[in-house]
Amino acid sequence: MKKIVSIVALVALIPILCGFLEKDIHSCENHSSWGFYGHKRINELAIYSLPEGMFGFYKANMDFIIEHSVDPDKRRYGVKGEAECHYIDMDRYCFGQAGCDPFENVPKHWNDAVAKYSEDSLRAHGIVPWHVNLMVYKLTKAFEEENITRVLHLSAELGHYIGDAHVPLHTTSNYNGQKTNQRGIHGFWESRLPELYDLNYDFFIGKAEYIKTPLDHIWGKIRQSYAAVDSVLLMEQQLNSTFPSDRKYSYEVRGQAQVKVYSEEYSNTYHQMLQGQVERRMKSAVLTIGSYWYTAWVNAGQPDLSKFISKGNLPEYQPELPVSKPDSLSIRDHE
Ligand SMILES: [Zn+2]
Repeated sequence: MKKIVSIVALVALIPILCGFLEKDIHSCENHSSWGFYGHKRINELAIYSLPEGMFGFYKANMDFIIEHSVDPDKRRYGVKGEAECHYIDMDRYCFGQAGCDPFENVPKHWNDAVAKYSEDSLRAHGIVPWHVNLMVYKLTKAFEEENITRVLHLSAELGHYIGDAHVPLHTTSNYNGQKTNQRGIHGFWESRLPELYDLNYDFFIGKAEYIKTPLDHIWGKIRQSYAAVDSVLLMEQQLNSTFPSDRKYSYEVRGQAQVKVYSEEYSNTYHQMLQGQVERRMKSAVLTIGSYWYTAWVNAGQPDLSKFISKGNLPEYQPELPVSKPDSLSIRDHE
């Protein structure tokens, strides 16, 4: 209980601490990846991609899947081993070599990557692809055991990590533009833009698909995210150099406070320059989440979920805190 209270207290302190600390790790500056709004919306939309045997159950538990989509971010400062599950700094695997493709350097499988770089350095640079793979494995087990509470909890959180893997700035060590004098760009791209424009996006994404090799699939998504890093940064640099600086920011009232935000005019121009990039990454995240949920369910033998739809059959939700340092042996390449 004490531990939970101190985690809650720490989470409450984050915005205050972030005002004073500056660390060169993915920490304070991107504490709400995709923004809480984006993660909730992505998890919600993923439900509509599910096939008949799953849709009714997920729809009945939509509030849970939405609400718990942000749990991993809430605990990332209070729980050791959590922060690195949200990103991977691919550029760190190029060691400054020009023309290098980091994806050729990093082995796709966890054990091979540990053998090459050591577990500590992998964790220092982020482990999101392997963590997604581990979550798919856990979700499959939960379906097999028909442990419905766990299925819901893991589905919501798997959605979070997949969402993070789709954000270009979650794949680079220059994650908040701190190396290129663009501080704030992380939240700009992944929170401000979706909050302003996602209601105009076309979220018709079709049906969830079976994914034969989940680890390869998430690596493919990370490759796409990483390929978009340059345009995310360069477009903003270009805009910043031509846009009147007194119109770049504005103030909005959020709750009791007045907060400084990128102005709508600046946001709109940047959003147009990106030519649908935020929409494409969001849609891909939605479809990937639905597809991983579906894949876990199929691999578990398609358990009948209809018997759990009635609320009366759902066990009480018991929040589970992850272990402080996940057993490295459990992050295998479950395929
Ligand atoms: Zn996150």
